[in-house]
Amino acid sequence: MFERLLPHMRVNTIYDINLHTLKEQGKRGIITDLDNTLVGAREPLATPELVQWLDDVRDNLGFKVVIVSNNNQTRVGKFAEPLNIPFVHAARKPAGRAFTRALNELGLSAEQTVVIGDQMMTDVLGGRRMGLFTILVRPIAPNDEGIMTRFNRFLERIALSRLRKKGLWPEEELKKS
Ligand SMILES: [Mg+2]
Repeated sequence: MFERLLPHMRVNTIYDINLHTLKEQGKRGIITDLDNTLVGAREPLATPELVQWLDDVRDNLGFKVVIVSNNNQTRVGKFAEPLNIPFVHAARKPAGRAFTRALNELGLSAEQTVVIGDQMMTDVLGGRRMGLFTILVRPIAPNDEGIMTRFNRFLERIALSRLRKKGLWPEEELKKS
């Protein structure tokens, strides 16, 4: 069962994702988590670096982007609206419904879409269940996580130790950028 928590790709940050390669593989859409994936969990707005990345991803590379977050409408809306990004809030990931809504919003199939997130229990598990290509990033501000996320991290640690034992999680850690 732990294989369902295994991301297809691991990177330090969203900026390390090779989007050209993904595009060559037919990917056209990005479903992304918000907290600790795009910005720290307590950062209300996008950083200038993120704004530039999103412009590049959407305008130059032609990806469609939607935010899917388990956080509430106020948090997600205040972040996403200035960026003109559609969003699904209170998503209850890993449940599939929000991913289905996100795919409808994108107008793309699961095969054409990737999920980016910092949590195996929500982003990776939910994405894999839907048949999406999953990309795990390191949490931006791991000390700013709420109680639910901390519980998920506890489960993640158990899963990680099993995956390592099975040789499914390469031992060498990603270099800190
Ligand atoms: Mg997150």
